[in-house]
Amino acid sequence: MTAQKKGFQISMAAAGRLLIGFVLFYAIVAAGFSIVFLRKIESDARYTQEQQLPLVLSQNRNAIKVERLASLARSIYLAKDRELERQLQLQTHVLAQSFTLDENNELAKGVMDVGASVKRIVAIREQVRRMDYGTGIGPDPAVRAELEEQALETYQSAMRVTDKLSQSMISDAAVLAYGMSGDIQRTARMIQIAWIIILILPVATAVGAIYVVARHIITPINSAIEGLQSIDRHEGRNFKLRRPLFRELSTIYEAIEAYGRVSSDLLRTNSILQALSEEDGLTTLANRRSFEKRLGEEFAKAAQDGTDLAILMVDLDHFKSINDHYGHQMGDTCLKMTANVLRSVCAERECHAARYGGEEFSVVFPGCNLQEAIAEAEKIRLSLSSLIIKTSYDEVIRITASVGVATLKSGKFETSSQLLENADKALYLAKHSGRNIVKSLPSSGRTDLKSIPA
Ligand code: GH3
Ligand code: MG
Ligand code: MG
Repeated sequence: MTAQKKGFQISMAAAGRLLIGFVLFYAIVAAGFSIVFLRKIESDARYTQEQQLPLVLSQNRNAIKVERLASLARSIYLAKDRELERQLQLQTHVLAQSFTLDENNELAKGVMDVGASVKRIVAIREQVRRMDYGTGIGPDPAVRAELEEQALETYQSAMRVTDKLSQSMISDAAVLAYGMSGDIQRTARMIQIAWIIILILPVATAVGAIYVVARHIITPINSAIEGLQSIDRHEGRNFKLRRPLFRELSTIYEAIEAYGRVSSDLLRTNSILQALSEEDGLTTLANRRSFEKRLGEEFAKAAQDGTDLAILMVDLDHFKSINDHYGHQMGDTCLKMTANVLRSVCAERECHAARYGGEEFSVVFPGCNLQEAIAEAEKIRLSLSSLIIKTSYDEVIRITASVGVATLKSGKFETSSQLLENADKALYLAKHSGRNIVKSLPSSGRTDLKSIPA
């Protein structure tokens, strides 16, 4: 298990400070933006109220006044009474004066034209009246008709002007009102967008924070737990962890990594110690402890299955004198070669050989009866006696061994120790029978060993 070392990393504390900083910054920006934005909306509204609205109202007022002007002109044209004409003309004059302050040139000029038309109608009517009173017989019908014609044309021209003016007033007011409504719509849309932005960002930040917590905190912690579990299952070495974003988790990963290494080193050491505790250092055969354990297992199995089981105790003859004669090292060489012989026997058929102690070896043969065991023992004895072991001085050492054989079915054995004891007695018998010989005890297993001379 290894956490990679490269790439961006940040501590959770720093990430937390960053998030708080971002939220504060966002709150300040959002508040500032809101204030500026609301002020703009307020100033736009004030502009509409103070500038555009009066314009619309004044256009409406002018349109009404133009209508009134048209009505006065109509009345003057229809009046045919000098006094009424004068009064109407005066009203027309006062009304026309009220337009002179207006900045709208077209309107002022139109009003002046209407005023002039009114004046002209009144003058024509005056001329007709003078002709009536001057001659006493009334005016020439042709002249009168012509003057009436002129008055009508002047009146119609005034009506055209007032129509045009009121059309223009109405359409200007409509354009202004349309513009105002467009401004209000634009402001409403801006408010919409601003609120969407102001609301979306916190939501996006919250979603981002949840993602970071899930991906960079919860997932790595789960991986760490998996890592620990895989170490406990002794798979820690193959476990891969993705490098975490946060430093604190990295520290935890490194601790798990170290734990994985120590755990697997301990496992390896344990298995080596286990092997060493069961192995003989000189011959690398199983040692006595391991042999007795194995014998116990095989004994129990054979007893349960009702099968046979044989053991051999092999002891080198006069080994002390080999040591004395050729030295301890040559004695060790003889022990190793004896072990090799036993190993080759167990390579051929199922058996387990061990160095029982000193120059004494033991072999267990599962499923082997007495006859087969004696044959195997004979094979071992002959192999050992035919070994030619040379010293550094080219001297030849020959070894022999005495072998005691015991089988499960050759007596009544309740424990593996009893079987072992029986094989030991058989070995004792072999020694006292002259050595370099294979012996087993009679089935009673009650040979009086005391009768054998030492
Ligand atoms: P016997 O035929 O009666 O078995 O005679 P023996 O000499 O083989 O038996 P004894 O028990 O008198 O001597 C055993 C000797 O084995 C004594 C000891 O020095 C020697 N021995 C025991 N372990 C080792 C070892 O690891 N290496 C060597 N070289 N000799 C050992
Ligand atoms: Mg011996
Ligand atoms: Mg011995």
